[in-house]
Amino acid sequence: MELDEKRIQQIVERVVSRLNVRPADAGETRAPAVIREPAAGPSVKGFPRGSLGIFPTVDDAVRAAQSAFEEYRKCSLELRYKIVAAMREVTLRHVQMLSEYAVVETKLGRVEDKVRKNTLAARKTPGPEMLVPRAWTGDHGMTLVEWAPYGVIGAITPCTNPTETILGNGIGFVSGGNTAVFNVHPTAKAVSAFHVHLLNEAAIGAGAPHNLLTCVAEPTIPSAQQLMKHPGTRILVVTGGPAVVQVAMNSGKKVVAAGPGNPPVVVDETADIHRAATGIIAGASLDNNLICCDEKEVFAAAAIFDDLRRELKAGGAYELSESQMSRLTKHLIDPDGIHPNKDYVGKNVSVILDSIGVKVGDDVRLAFSVVEESHPLVRVEQLLPVIPLVKAKDGVDAIAMAYRAEQHLGHTSSIYSRNIDNMHNMARLMDTCIFVKNGPHYVGLGGEGESYNSFTIAHPTGEGLTCVIHFVRSRRCALQDSFRIV
Ligand code: NAD
Repeated sequence: MELDEKRIQQIVERVVSRLNVRPADAGETRAPAVIREPAAGPSVKGFPRGSLGIFPTVDDAVRAAQSAFEEYRKCSLELRYKIVAAMREVTLRHVQMLSEYAVVETKLGRVEDKVRKNTLAARKTPGPEMLVPRAWTGDHGMTLVEWAPYGVIGAITPCTNPTETILGNGIGFVSGGNTAVFNVHPTAKAVSAFHVHLLNEAAIGAGAPHNLLTCVAEPTIPSAQQLMKHPGTRILVVTGGPAVVQVAMNSGKKVVAAGPGNPPVVVDETADIHRAATGIIAGASLDNNLICCDEKEVFAAAAIFDDLRRELKAGGAYELSESQMSRLTKHLIDPDGIHPNKDYVGKNVSVILDSIGVKVGDDVRLAFSVVEESHPLVRVEQLLPVIPLVKAKDGVDAIAMAYRAEQHLGHTSSIYSRNIDNMHNMARLMDTCIFVKNGPHYVGLGGEGESYNSFTIAHPTGEGLTCVIHFVRSRRCALQDSFRIV
């Protein structure tokens, strides 16, 4: 007898009713006959708004994503490749507009840098090709392991890389056969919703079901928490600061969590100082230091300290005097001493220095100041383009300072050196998800470096740079005594 879809469904229902359990991919709530979709999502004046995949409530978005998943699981692998190609293409086609939109809405970062980040995500986020099945054969037959989707993924995204994260997560999720609900950062809700709309439009054009990627039109912290607890989401992928990571870890679900960092840079006495200064300026200034892995503080050996200062200034960085830095620090750090002042996060150097009456042009991308190791900016994840520079006795002393500054977050660190022992020892000591030698930290994201890209670096849960292989489940199929064909 031919096993068509209807017959399979009847068998599944009969088995499920006998066992009195739900099918593995069914949540508490099943897709209703009618799924509400708002006519248009939020928008910022002067920018377009979309409607595809945007829902008024978490429940609506989850139901739509569940319904999409039921359709998507019937689709071919070939279609996944087409969908991912379309998602890349539509983002690249709109990259300038998405980048401008993000800067206007969030008031964070630089348009030209967001173009670079979005382009990187579009070009280097891995697709379904990463999912390689495994087979074992021997005297007792063959065992095959393949990769199955979870179903509906609940994703929380930040304001610092809003569209980059939606694209990177989105490609990873659908490459693994999943669908998703995004609860984006409220201050990036319009650009995020529009990107979700564009990605759905492109996916549908490639032959996908509607609502592979959904989002909540008016995201809030309560709606994020509702999504995390929702019985319809199988796994959470969370990108943000310590609070959201903590809440997700307490959800009782599988979590892929990408949290905060405080990445230090060491420049030892053997380093190529021009290369170090160029790399530090390029890395620490990228998108006004918004990326979690951007360089946040520098420790340099005494022997090359003055050379590095000179090279940083020659490279266009603005050096703040001790008294300027002392006045500026009061503006940059909240009275609690642990958080940066949100008014200055992600702002241009010109805006930040204006607060103490220093005028520079927008072409100045980075400011730095010589401080002691105890300076608050050494420990605070500032997310703005002013970095502390600390003098160490030598490379080994600088590595010890870097270790203390990173505070065991395990995120990102780097060294400029030609000393193999220093490079080796620092890599082992820091034990960070990303360790870069002789280059800016974005090299570790695949930018002007090798390997793939992700803007969700899951150090608390250990995945590192996330991709499709972290969004699938292992399924093993064993056949006894046959199919060893040699
Ligand atoms: P954020 O923590 O303010 O917000 C991130 C997301 O979490 C938002 O969608 C927000 O609405 C949600 N959220 C915040 N608190 C929550 C709570 N208590 N319950 C439920 N949801 C909550 O972070 P941000 O300002 O958007 O981004 C900057 C922070 O994120 C930095 O600390 C940065 O290091 C980190 N980050 C890490 C990575 C990484 O890959 N490791 C990537 C980007 C950002």
